[in-house]
Amino acid sequence: MTSLEDIQVTALKGVGDALAGRLARLGIHTLQDLLFHLPYRYEDRTRLTPIGSLHVGDVAVVEGEVVSADMVMGRRRSLQVTVRDNSGFLALRFFYFSAAQKKQLSEGTRVRCFGEVRPGRAGMEFYHPEYQVNPPPMPSPDQATLTPIYPLTEGIQQPRLRSLCQQAQRYLSRYPVREWLPDGVLEEYQFPTITDALSMVHAPPAGAPVRALMEGQHPAQQRLVMEELMAHQLSMLKVRAQIQSRQSLALLPQGDLADRFLDQLPFALTGAQNRVVDDIRQDLSQPLPMLRLVQGDVGSGKTVVAALAALQAIAAGAQVALMAPTEILAEQHYVNFRDWLAPLGLTPAWLSGKTKGRARDAVLSAMASGDARLVIGTHALFQDDVAFERLGLVIVDEQHRFGVHQRLALRDKGAAGDYAPHQLIMTATPIPRTLAMSAYADLDTSLIDELPPGRQPIETIAIPDSRREEVVERVRGACQSGRQAYWVCTLIEESEALQCQAAEATADELRERLPELSIGLVHGRLKASEKADLMHRFQAGELDLLVATTVIEVGVDVPNASLIIIENPERLGLAQLHQLRGRVGRGHDASYCVLMYHPPLSQNGKARLQVLRDSQDGFVIAEKDLEIRGPGEVLGTRQTGLMQFRIADFERDRGWIEAVRKKAPALMDDDRRVNALIQRWLGERIRYGDV
Ligand code: ADP
Ligand code: MG
Repeated sequence: MTSLEDIQVTALKGVGDALAGRLARLGIHTLQDLLFHLPYRYEDRTRLTPIGSLHVGDVAVVEGEVVSADMVMGRRRSLQVTVRDNSGFLALRFFYFSAAQKKQLSEGTRVRCFGEVRPGRAGMEFYHPEYQVNPPPMPSPDQATLTPIYPLTEGIQQPRLRSLCQQAQRYLSRYPVREWLPDGVLEEYQFPTITDALSMVHAPPAGAPVRALMEGQHPAQQRLVMEELMAHQLSMLKVRAQIQSRQSLALLPQGDLADRFLDQLPFALTGAQNRVVDDIRQDLSQPLPMLRLVQGDVGSGKTVVAALAALQAIAAGAQVALMAPTEILAEQHYVNFRDWLAPLGLTPAWLSGKTKGRARDAVLSAMASGDARLVIGTHALFQDDVAFERLGLVIVDEQHRFGVHQRLALRDKGAAGDYAPHQLIMTATPIPRTLAMSAYADLDTSLIDELPPGRQPIETIAIPDSRREEVVERVRGACQSGRQAYWVCTLIEESEALQCQAAEATADELRERLPELSIGLVHGRLKASEKADLMHRFQAGELDLLVATTVIEVGVDVPNASLIIIENPERLGLAQLHQLRGRVGRGHDASYCVLMYHPPLSQNGKARLQVLRDSQDGFVIAEKDLEIRGPGEVLGTRQTGLMQFRIADFERDRGWIEAVRKKAPALMDDDRRVNALIQRWLGERIRYGDV
């Protein structure tokens, strides 16, 4: 039987190749795709508002007669159309318009328009409203429906998409859409069928509950939300199943490397570290690839945990790759591991994008022969021409730039290609629980929820940049008493070049004002070796003050640094600020973070800085960040496309996540269902490897 998945959009009236091409850019190929292109909001255009009762900011439908239509010169040429009803005047302003439009809107024409009221030079104005000339009578209140608003792409306007969706809907009665939610679920939540739900959201009938629809709470919407979240969950579980369809090397604990390593550490592991090390030890011992996420706030001590995992794998005869997202971070790991492992007679190898020529050849051949037991580096580790002899474990630090696709790709990097490596992913970006459940459903998680003893809370203060002098004095004081400081410049310039220039200017200024201090500057444009050199000098205490761009954001660890100045903190996300602040408070001294903002701060800006001053807890901060900025920003995974929902809204619908997580495993049994739901909701956005 034909179904809507088999009918191409070109079956619709008015859809030729050109329009079909534009629709394809929205991922719409078939009528089913079109029906799952859902309105993201509604507008209530069911009532006319008298012009005289409009206020700035109102979104309204008005109707009246055109009194004049004039070209207005000014900073930008525009067409200004004045409309009158019996309560007042309103201007419509068009910056882009055709001659035909100008003619159509001539004096005396009746026009109905829809827009948002803005203050303009002619009083209240609508900019580029949707409008209709000589409109039909308004529907009576019991006939009126809400107007769905769809996500658009270039070259397709709202009315066009609306009419296509309406056409597609007429097919619904003849070719129903497959129901993929189990009966039990439909009954439990008293959900409407998929067909009814789609009809409701695309064309709410007269008398449908306006408020519920506007708020996304209508059962038809909630049903679709649940199905969408389920589809995402299933796609993650499928990634996991695909990775775990391979075997991995069972890396049983053996020998005394780990004990010797622990003996030489100047501290004992915390309880939380021990727990996580146990989780990992268990996983690595299995012939099934580990997929584990270790979450631990900044400074919670993830690196030693990673080292212990690496040693277990090495002792069991496997190779280990440790990847960090930036050169600086990777180098720091390299230096750390080199020092830690030297007494054990092990030397890590180094590979980054900047390793070239003979050095690169040498590392590659050591990796391929298995001589290199541990390789540390950046993404360069996983390029196609890089091969391992017996890769047993991959450790990825600061995971937030590492999505499911990469995890899936790693599967094939294992020993001789037959075994998938174990994957250990570490992040200091505390992820709110609900978000983690849906974004990392393919991973098991362990939490390091305890900081090493003796850490002092970081005192955080917000100061306007008009008090820069005082801040400079504070840096002088801290450094003169033997401690070190960071000064972070956070220009959000698009260009790295400008960022670096700004940091350079700041460094020059500070060198002039603080001639007695030795000041270094790190930014993204330095060579890796220059950056590493500066970091070493800072670490060794040769530099008092390190001026930096946000490149020092993750992972950098210098316990003697106890003061950090962050310029323009209002421009950064809370989680990122928390990360930056985590560069201090790593030793035994009391530490300070000065947020030097540029006034005036918005209400929201004030509230955000206050959150930071009130809390040291990355999870609390992440929850707030999620509220303020939404999940895409918090996860930094927009590029993975995973959190781009069609109808679900992470904040509004987080109540579903627990239920979805519980019910998903049962749905995994039916392959056809899983594939159909993923295809329907995620379409082309996810590609799986062959099993
Ligand atoms: P992060 O979790 O942010 O990656 P690191 O692994 O860099 O943290 O550790 C931060 C600092 O804490 C390092 O100087 C590390 O040596 C130290 N550290 C780690 N574990 C402990 C512990 N159990 N006791 C004391 N210090 C520790
Ligand atoms: Mg770290």
